[in-house]
Amino acid sequence: MSTHQFQTEVSQLLKLIIHSLYSHREIFLRELVSNASDAIDKLRYLCASDEQYKAISFDPLIRISFDAAAGTLTIEDNGIGMNESDLRDNLGTIARSGTRRFLDAMAEDKKRDSNLIGQFGVGFYASYMVADSVAVTTRKAGEEQAWLWTSDGKDSYAVEPAKRDGHGTTVSLQMNDDGREFLSRWRLEELIRKYSNHVAFPIRLSYQEDEYDDKGKKTGKTNQKDEQINSAQALWRRPKNDLKEEDYVEFYKNLADDEDKPLLWSHTRAEGTIEYTTLFYVPSKAPFDLYRADYQPGVKLYVRRVFITDDNKELLPPYLRFVRGVIDSEDLPLNVSREILQQNRVMSSIRTASVKKILAEFKDLAERDKDAFKTFSDNYNRPLKEGLYTDFANRDAILELVRFKSTAADGWTSLADYKSRTKDGQKAIYYITGDSEERLRKSPLLEMYRKEGIEVLLCNDEIDELVIPMAGKYGELELKAVNRAGADQELNAQRDKGREKDLAPLVERLKKALGEAVKDVKLSSRLAESPSCIVVDEHDPSMQFQQFMKNLGQDSGADVKPILEINPGHDLVKIAETEQDESRLSDIAFVLLYQALVVEGVPLKDPADFVARTNRLLARSARP
Ligand code: ADP
Repeated sequence: MSTHQFQTEVSQLLKLIIHSLYSHREIFLRELVSNASDAIDKLRYLCASDEQYKAISFDPLIRISFDAAAGTLTIEDNGIGMNESDLRDNLGTIARSGTRRFLDAMAEDKKRDSNLIGQFGVGFYASYMVADSVAVTTRKAGEEQAWLWTSDGKDSYAVEPAKRDGHGTTVSLQMNDDGREFLSRWRLEELIRKYSNHVAFPIRLSYQEDEYDDKGKKTGKTNQKDEQINSAQALWRRPKNDLKEEDYVEFYKNLADDEDKPLLWSHTRAEGTIEYTTLFYVPSKAPFDLYRADYQPGVKLYVRRVFITDDNKELLPPYLRFVRGVIDSEDLPLNVSREILQQNRVMSSIRTASVKKILAEFKDLAERDKDAFKTFSDNYNRPLKEGLYTDFANRDAILELVRFKSTAADGWTSLADYKSRTKDGQKAIYYITGDSEERLRKSPLLEMYRKEGIEVLLCNDEIDELVIPMAGKYGELELKAVNRAGADQELNAQRDKGREKDLAPLVERLKKALGEAVKDVKLSSRLAESPSCIVVDEHDPSMQFQQFMKNLGQDSGADVKPILEINPGHDLVKIAETEQDESRLSDIAFVLLYQALVVEGVPLKDPADFVARTNRLLARSARP
């Protein structure tokens, strides 16, 4: 026998699981059953695709049994099994990088959500919530030697040679005091039905039943019974009419390891040149790794009911990475590899049709259930917007689905809502980008739009600046950023041409005073109360976006300069007009620029200069 220390992460993880998930400890059974089912999936796949395994024939089975007197619970499968090194890699070390992330996410997640466990694949260790020690007897398909792995789940585990009939794994738990409640036929049946009803293989429960005589009296003897508890069908293969809401919900909970009801599901069977079934779900809460590059994709691929992969990011486009579900194809080869999948014509048709179907479901949700769609937007609006620049073919459909904050309404606004509120003759949809909704609402750039009753969309997602210009147009309405030159045509109509002429010399003097600090100085049509604002040229990135890229370490080096716009009606501008002294005019010019940058949340390169110039102006105005 050889004894090994757990990797540090494993010990940490065990402690965390035991302490933080204790109130959900019944999920240990679901985790073990799901491992058993995965192991059978793996072997079935090999038998179907690998010459070496073709000779193995087996009837998939998961058996659960218990001995209340001895305090043991056993979960047995005839799946792929493990050899010595598998045991070490899978149960002794954290081979999968997922576990580190799990620990980090647990530390972040104050609610200690039990869903995290399955999402990271640390399910086996959940056993230690109910057991003092666990023994795993296992034999790998195609190998002769079986192995016994044992551990009390503290610091170390032992591995030794063992005997086992046939391939597969037997996990035996020596229950602790809290685990004893599970050593009951009724409790186990309840849990299997609750969590594992749609596991695709039969789950049988073995139990002792009292024997009765003809008169209905106990004989004092017991009989060993063995009964299948779950429905053991691939739910997605059953006709829709046979399925009730509970069936879909329960299947989802298992599939996605989520305790909450899904927001939406869509079950499609395609029969034509290409045959396949899809069942997609949208979780009611965004997966925690939605914004991580190493997110776990949520769609499982089956070929003729044989599980192929759940780790392929190509099954759906990344902007739909929050979708969970199953794709089962009749036409793909069983030994389809990742590379083949990528270029496979069948797969690409399934994918294209699935994306269309999913987007249509979103649209339907928006039309039929406002509250649910609000939840949808709260969670998924941002990834969906990524689709505007990654999925050109579906751009129009996505444009109907994305939502915005707006100056004209609370909550979410669609482009259709905006369009219905446009003023007569309005030619564009206006939007402003920046990093905080609150700051955007107060931006001086909105003053004239507000006064004129023109609605402006408030776009405070970092990606807005990238994706909204890509969208270009909504119907005949162009999308225009108010913080850009050229977005003010509709406001320009109001301009006083005479005043413009009078101010031309001031504009020239300001330009000279500001020199390299600005790209240009212009009279503004956008301002009502504020003296100045900054905009960027039509094709330049906004100041906030440049800042964002710098923060990401993506400084292009090319400093794109703002255009300073001044409000012809403002007192400060009038004062500037009469100022004869060029150095004092320079103070006014820079204060106008600095202020405009500050309200937009753009950090000043030289804050001390701002303070010095402001103080000089204040001191002067305070003088009698
Ligand atoms: P997960 O199943 O999510 O990967 P677990 O900690 O539950 O995480 O299991 C770790 C690994 O141990 C599994 O990925 C699998 O390789 C192996 N394993 C667990 N249970 C079994 C089993 N019943 N049969 C074969 N392998 C198993």
